[in-house]
Parts: sequence; C-alpha cells; structure tokens
Amino acid sequence: MSPVWECAVVGAGAAGLSAALVLGRARRHVVVIDAGHQSNRASPTIGGLLGYDQRPPADLYAQGRSELAAYPSVEFRTGEVVGGSSGEDGYLLELADGETLTARRVLLATGMKYNPPDLPGIGELWGSSVFQCPFCHGWEMRDKRLAALASGEEAVHAALMLRGWSDDVTMLTDGPTRLDSEQLRMLQVAKVEVEQRRVVQLASDEGRLTHVVFADGDRLERDGLLVEAPLSQRSRLGETLGVQSAASQLSPNAVHVDKMHRSSVSTVFAAGDVCTKQPHLADAMSAGSQAAMIIVQSLLSDDFGLPYPPA
Ligand SMILES: Cc1cc2nc3c(=O)[nH]c(=O)nc-3n(C[C@H](O)[C@H](O)[C@H](O)COP(=O)(O)OP(=O)(O)OC[C@H]3O[C@@H](n4cnc5c(N)ncnc54)[C@H](O)[C@@H]3O)c2cc1C
Repeated sequence: MSPVWECAVVGAGAAGLSAALVLGRARRHVVVIDAGHQSNRASPTIGGLLGYDQRPPADLYAQGRSELAAYPSVEFRTGEVVGGSSGEDGYLLELADGETLTARRVLLATGMKYNPPDLPGIGELWGSSVFQCPFCHGWEMRDKRLAALASGEEAVHAALMLRGWSDDVTMLTDGPTRLDSEQLRMLQVAKVEVEQRRVVQLASDEGRLTHVVFADGDRLERDGLLVEAPLSQRSRLGETLGVQSAASQLSPNAVHVDKMHRSSVSTVFAAGDVCTKQPHLADAMSAGSQAAMIIVQSLLSDDFGLPYPPA
C-alpha cells in the first residue's frame, strides 16, 4: 500500500525547498513534487539574495536539493501535479505520469507565471536587459541608458525608481497619457525624459537590448528596460482543491492566505509567489519556512492535541 504522506509540497523553488527543509528537520514524512520551472531561471544571475548574490539560479536549486538529501523522511518526485481532490486519508494528488499520492497536508509552492508585455523581441531579453524588478536587476543595469515602460501613475513611479540606478532614464507611456503638473514637475526635477509614442518592438544584439522601436519606425537607444509583469496562476491545483484566491496589486488571482499561510481550506497551505505581495526570493524562502512551522504544529495538533490557533 502506498504511504500517506504527512505533507505534500508542490513546487521546489525557494518557497518549497525552504519548507521541505524545515519539515524534514521536524521529522515529518514529506513528498516534494516539482516540475522544475522556477520563474527566475530566465535570468543569468540572482540579485539580492544573501549567500547567492550574483550566482546562477540553478546553483540555489541544486544546493537546496542537496541539503534536503540529509533528511531521510523527505522524498522528491520530478513531475507535475495535474489534479487533486480530498479523500478519507487526506488529499489525493495526481501526477502527470499517472502516479497518485495521498497527503494529510498540502503546501502550494507552485509560483506564478510572470506576464511581461507581449512585444516582438522581448523573449530573449526577459530576465536580463528587460526586467520587472529594479532590486533584482538594477545593479547590473547601473549607469546604463534605461527606460521604464508602464501605464498611468505606474509609469511615473517606475521611472523615478529607476533614477536610483542611472542618470539616463526615459519614461515610456506607450501612448498618450495625461500627466498632471506635479508629475511633470517631479519628472523634470529628476531629469527623466518622457516619450508617449507607442512601442511596437524591442531590438537586440547578441541577447542584449539595443533599441526600443516606436510605431512610426523611430528607434530609441536603450540598454535596459523595466516593464510591468503582472502575475497569474500557472497551476490550477489550488482552484481544484477549493482554495480561494483574491486580487492583489500584482495579480488578479493570488491564493488568499492568513498570517499563518493557511488558505481558505484549513489543511491546504500556500507560500511564495503563489500568494505573494512581494515577489522576491528572500520573501519566498521566508514564507516557505514559516508555512512549514505551522504545518508541523497543525499535524501535532491532530496527533497529540497540541494547541493550534483556530482558522
Ligand atoms: C526573470 C525573473 C528574475 C528574477 N530575479 C530575481 C532576483 O534576482 N532576485 C529575487 O529576489 N527575485 C527574483 N525574481 C523573483 C523570484 O524568482 C520569485 O519571487 C521566486 O522564484 C518565487 O519562488 P517560488 O518558490 O514561490 O516559485 P518558483 O521559484 O517559481 O517555483 C515554483 C516551482 O513550482 C513548480 N510547479 C508549478 N506548478 C506545479 C505543479 N502543478 N506540479 C509540480 N510542480 C509545479 C514550478 O515548475 C517551479 O519549479 C525573479 C523573477 C523572474 C521572473
């Protein structure tokens, strides 16, 4: 008979690996299932994560997996969870290869899909010279010719943010935008150029942005471009398990959790980008660790009556 796992961690990015480590050290029987598409793999290096700064994302995931090997109660499966339902012993998870797993708790650490603008030429630049977070990529772009592409208020915010990394910043509004006198004053003081023509393409050379191309064919030389990239669920698993999602500033469907990382279904937890307000590796790692500590307490509550805060 196949075992009933105490927890299934779905996704082994920063959040899932960190959770699995805490669960393993707490001697919980844990299965980690991962499809291997962590969102920052598009970038050559990580920015701003202590211990991994300016190192390739693959190093972080390989190190996480190797540290987990020390804990015999943690097992890995490479694959995708394609379905889930609740049953007598817990949750039944179906993997794409046909395997089924039963677990008393589920931690959703499935990350999010980032949706940058659909511009010809953006694909090969995403995660390097086209980026969504100046804290992650700004250092590599320091003192270069930069632009911020966004709409409305966000464009002003993004352009002024970028000024922290370069003196040469253009704000691209991608079409006519009304700017009030205060916004115009701030942009002028910060010496940010404003360009309101439609952007239709990004031109590059050897994987590096060279120009932003406008609808009239004109080109603006730029080395780096900050864009908006709203997040959306990349897995329907949460929905299948009945957890509620809510719109946040960054996503229309982030999984809704309480301060203890519990979803609307009290034995399904979520951590990392899947429910985040702040998509960063350090945040995902911290959330995974916190969620795991709560999961351990919820299991000990069921098994030994450990007092556990009600939902
Ligand atoms: C291009 C880019 C660069 C970035 N650079 C930085 C940076 O330099 N510094 C920084 O702090 N932040 C950076 N970020 C943000 C950071 O990568 C994320 O906040 C972080 O990876 C979120 O971790 P996570 O564990 O929640 O999700 P992820 O790292 O995305 O991991 C989720 C995992 O779950 C798996 N998965 C999803 N669904 C299923 C399923 N149904 N079954 C099995 N597995 C599944 C995925 O394949 C993936 O491996 C960057 C983001 C992007 C897009």
